[in-house]
Amino acid sequence: MTETPNESAIATSVAPAARTFRIAVLPGDGIGPEVIAEAVRVLEAVRQKLEGVEFQFTEHPCGAGEYLRSGDPLPASTLRACGSANAILLGAMGLPDVRWPSGTEMAPQLDLREQLDLYAGVRPIKLYNPAHSPLKHTGAVDFVIYRENTEGLFSTRKNGYSRDALEVRDSLRVSRRASERLFRAAFRHAQRRRGLVTLVDKANVLPSMAYFRSIFDRISAEFPDVRTERVYVDAAALFLVQKPEAFDVIVTENMFGDILSDLAAGIVGGMGMAPSGDIGEHHAVFQPSHGTAPDIAGKGVANPLATILSAAMMLDWLGHDETRRAARLIEQAVEKLTADASFATPDLGGSMTTSEIGRLITEAL
Ligand code: ATP
Repeated sequence: MTETPNESAIATSVAPAARTFRIAVLPGDGIGPEVIAEAVRVLEAVRQKLEGVEFQFTEHPCGAGEYLRSGDPLPASTLRACGSANAILLGAMGLPDVRWPSGTEMAPQLDLREQLDLYAGVRPIKLYNPAHSPLKHTGAVDFVIYRENTEGLFSTRKNGYSRDALEVRDSLRVSRRASERLFRAAFRHAQRRRGLVTLVDKANVLPSMAYFRSIFDRISAEFPDVRTERVYVDAAALFLVQKPEAFDVIVTENMFGDILSDLAAGIVGGMGMAPSGDIGEHHAVFQPSHGTAPDIAGKGVANPLATILSAAMMLDWLGHDETRRAARLIEQAVEKLTADASFATPDLGGSMTTSEIGRLITEAL
């Protein structure tokens, strides 16, 4: 006899509605659109592996090219779309020849950080293959930089200047609120890693940095399970080259973080290997640490791994079990493929194109 399913059996067999994550995509300028295309391709491929999760991508104009088109590098419609998206995936912004009348480059990604209060610049630095590093002896390099994103020495960046002035000043602003939330985020991250936070400052010279350190000391007492170190920024530059494997989580001021994260990227293969997330309480932008690389734009040779790994960070940050699983799948695919040193664009000494790297990752997934 054939059994007819009863109503409740039918009800339980109906799949729950998929959770849709809305991703605002801002390709930007230079190599931005090239590397973003590969990251979106990888996200679409990994989505096929997930249960109950959908991604909805919408592209928005932003950058120096958009300034030339519309007069605004960060149109209000783009900012609104970013504000209502679940996460933002950004390529790179700015072109050397497109500048404000003051002479500074367009940097809508900095405006986004400020407008959406993305206070923590999170930059994982990981050596996937020793052949990528210019250093002779490297152990397992795997640390994260937490860069303060909203103040520091960037706080007066919008001040104009006159070429005829006798002097021009920038101020290094350190506020209790911005420092406390940054330090807490860094400590929480260290609890999920190897439990060490290194403060990088210049407390021996600058009063603002001595204040920064005093706030760090107080916040560290909230995390007795996390070890701490305090290193001056000049020594940090030295140690990053001499013993990069000693770091776990580095936390630092905006400008120091800007400089040290490029140095750190250099020891693991360059800008094409450095993902990042600019993270606030409610919003986050994920983008490669590199700029628009006008010298290689349009040639199809940009390394998309920093952007693909930034997309993985985004999936982790979205915080759903399935998106977290997807983040691990992407990282595992990158780990597996980079074990072979020929899986590389020219910046890593290889001869692969941007789209070959993207395609091989989607196949590995
Ligand atoms: P910004 O000031 O916006 O950070 P920048 O002009 O200082 O930008 P990048 O655009 O990051 O620096 O470029 C620095 C160097 O790194 C250039 O030689 C560029 O070609 C190279 N580079 C950057 N990103 C990549 C990438 N994804 N793949 C290969 N090379 C890259």
